[in-house]
Amino acid sequence: MASWDVVVVGAGAAGCVLADALADTGCRVALVEAGPRLPAGARAPEVDRRAWGFRATAGSFDWYRVRAVGGRSLLWGGWSYRFPAHVLRRAGWPVSAATMARWYRAAERAIGVVEGPLDPRVRRAARALEVRAMPKRAPLVGDRIWTALDTRSARRARTHTVALRLEHERGEASALDCLDLRTGKSVRIRGRAYVLAASPVETTRILLESEVPPRRAYGRDLVDHQVASYVLIERVRREPTGGGPLAGSALIDPGVNGPGVNGPGVDTDAASARPYRGGFTIEVSGPHRLDDLGIERMVPGDEVDEHRATMLHAIGEVFPSPRRFVELQTDDRDAYGRRNPRIHFAWTREDARRGADMKRACVAFGDEIAAPGSRLVQFVDPMSAGAGHEAGTAARQELVDDRGGLRALSNVWIADASVMPTSGDRHPTLTLLAHALRVAAAIPRALR
Ligand SMILES: Cc1cc2nc3c(=O)[nH]c(=O)nc-3n(C[C@H](O)[C@H](O)[C@H](O)COP(=O)(O)OP(=O)(O)OC[C@H]3O[C@@H](n4cnc5c(N)ncnc54)[C@H](O)[C@@H]3O)c2cc1C
Repeated sequence: MASWDVVVVGAGAAGCVLADALADTGCRVALVEAGPRLPAGARAPEVDRRAWGFRATAGSFDWYRVRAVGGRSLLWGGWSYRFPAHVLRRAGWPVSAATMARWYRAAERAIGVVEGPLDPRVRRAARALEVRAMPKRAPLVGDRIWTALDTRSARRARTHTVALRLEHERGEASALDCLDLRTGKSVRIRGRAYVLAASPVETTRILLESEVPPRRAYGRDLVDHQVASYVLIERVRREPTGGGPLAGSALIDPGVNGPGVNGPGVDTDAASARPYRGGFTIEVSGPHRLDDLGIERMVPGDEVDEHRATMLHAIGEVFPSPRRFVELQTDDRDAYGRRNPRIHFAWTREDARRGADMKRACVAFGDEIAAPGSRLVQFVDPMSAGAGHEAGTAARQELVDDRGGLRALSNVWIADASVMPTSGDRHPTLTLLAHALRVAAAIPRALR
């Protein structure tokens, strides 16, 4: 039994960035991580399905997980954009865009976000199609993308320790019950405050296993992105453009459901209104060598060197539906005795319409940038579940305050995407880190 100022569950991007910020204020932080600490540059291992099982209804749910210090930041592409004000407003974000701006700046500083050059062919295509093209913004450490292993806290995390449940009484958490995988023994870690940063489904599991009131309230409103992916195969003789690791990559915003549309007040951009809430953006990157992407089988063997691939991923904003939620199964437990999650994920008619628009937009943009004789091949259908950007599950304002403070337990906060009412119309992690830093600022004040 050890005692700390703050006990943080999960050493992914959110947990590590938050733990660094708390340590900077003088807090003594225990960062609890289920997985090991891998050597820099090591491949993230497959998740052990016996230890971390789950079921999904309505077909499969491709649940991206990394059980190691760094979490999914070991896989991520680093795309880091702020959500526009209309995206925050439409989702019912608990704080204004002006308040978020301060925390976005702090998050960009914390991980070192920089902007790459805009590829001229992307600029030309965007102008021709009258859409907005933004250069790739991402955090760089030298010429590689930042991961949570670059934080100080990553080095100090207590690894191989699975958080099972919070003990609590009279509206306060008193200890975190964990399983030490190295000894097989139970450990109880005490803190004055607790932060859950285990990612939405795992945080739901901890809250439900802990029987935090209101019972059965956590896990609803699960959201994620829908993704339509294409690869443009071109026969080219030039090498990929120079200009650093972000060259050739851009985010395209077609402006669908843009400012004013569907929000309160005046419709300022009715031309882009669609019969669904939410918008989407398209990530463009390339040209890449086919063997760098592992898709060399898409052309005859002797032609691999003569071809290049440009990737187009459209990311669409899915809103909560009563048919998307997480619950725990009583008849299915994992190797640690925990109830396994069941993930319910179903598509709505709105999602089908947005998916069709996303496909059309990718094809239009691909056609515009394509060299003569290229092939555009679809490889992810937008109606396949699981984009690695899950959110929601504890976002309702009756469950948490606007800093992620749990209403039921006065010394517990949530710093992962569980409290985000939407994954947004673009990559969510910068927004997630802005939230985590806001949580980190609230805790020392609350402890005082
Ligand atoms: C292939 C891929 C590419 C992506 N690219 C981008 C991108 O370019 N831009 C972007 O914005 N987002 C991207 N994302 C999303 C991004 O990776 C996530 O939003 C972000 O990493 C989430 O961080 P997190 O700390 O909240 O969660 P996680 O990274 O999932 O970390 C949670 C941590 O908690 C630990 N944990 C879980 N349960 C327990 C427990 N019970 N006890 C102890 N520890 C526990 C886990 O082992 C893990 O280390 C991508 C995701 C994927 C899968």
